Amino acid sequence: MIKILITEFINQNSLDLLKDKFKVYYDDQLWEKIDELKEIINDYDGLIVRNKTQVNQDILKKSNNLKFVGRLGVGLDNIDTKFCEEKNIHVQPATGMNADSVVEYVASSSLSLIKKIPLFHNRTIKGDWPRTSIKSEEIKGKVLGLIGFGTIGKKVSNYCSNLGLNVIAYDPYLKDQTSDQNVKFVELDEIYGTSNIISLHLPLTDETKNLINKSSFSKMKEKPIIINTSRGSVINEDDLIEAYNVNLISGFALDVFENEPIKESFYNKIKSNMNCILTPHISGVTTQSNERVCNFITEKTLEFFENR
Ligand code: NAD
Repeated sequence: MIKILITEFINQNSLDLLKDKFKVYYDDQLWEKIDELKEIINDYDGLIVRNKTQVNQDILKKSNNLKFVGRLGVGLDNIDTKFCEEKNIHVQPATGMNADSVVEYVASSSLSLIKKIPLFHNRTIKGDWPRTSIKSEEIKGKVLGLIGFGTIGKKVSNYCSNLGLNVIAYDPYLKDQTSDQNVKFVELDEIYGTSNIISLHLPLTDETKNLINKSSFSKMKEKPIIINTSRGSVINEDDLIEAYNVNLISGFALDVFENEPIKESFYNKIKSNMNCILTPHISGVTTQSNERVCNFITEKTLEFFENR
């Protein structure tokens, strides 16, 4: 019988469906019991993970029966996809299944930060009444610059152009760079130079690590707000805080970080008088998206092994 190992949280419904067809071992904390994982992985034909399990060569070299890795999410930076390819292991992400949740996060944090809601909130709960001292703005007519125009970038563009934002985008790998009424394709420096909001939707690669750094912030003419739902290391976090402190940017929403959970050395720099929103890698995680992601990976797992 086909054996499936699940090392992170999956919905009960999906678990039941998988258990109907396969022999399943489920431990949602197994991702951190690395020695146990290494010991048992050789028994399994399929592995289902989220983003915490490091599916690296250490694990894969011990996985002689593995044929399928299902990722309950989108980013594949915790999986050595090249090595999987060499070992003929199929890697299946839940492409697009959590995109709508990320889009709503980008739109709602853009609105909050442009309207300075975190600043109003933090002062009001202390008994202040900063009705006129903090200047709030409307989002309509502002320029949203997207870096990365794949599954999520495209959806953000459609959603946000309906909010009245003028969307520009940079994605050097996109074949069709035809601008239309919803988006205009530009060079990276134009994103930096003209955007009021910059939102990142690209993968973490050797090329994109630290892409947004001191030099990028120095080119930001409109004091934009920065939104990162992609991967933490795409932005240099020290340079971001410095850019905020010297007024090169007017706010930031970070859902992803270089270290997750964030370290004290980082959160100690975040003060209650900053126009910012920090969340623990949840922009793609809602009740609805989690159900779609689990259903999709369950379907793909069943399909993969039934077709063999
Ligand atoms: P995608 O692969 O569909 O799109 C990524 C786009 O980035 C591609 O079009 C690619 O051409 C472009 N790109 C690659 N290198 C680039 C560069 N140097 N400059 C500009 N563009 C570049 O991915 P997606 O599904 O849209 O996801 C985007 C990011 O969001 C990924 O990093 C993913 O891991 C992350 N994500 C996070 C969450 C969350 O909960 N925070 C949820 C879903 C996705």
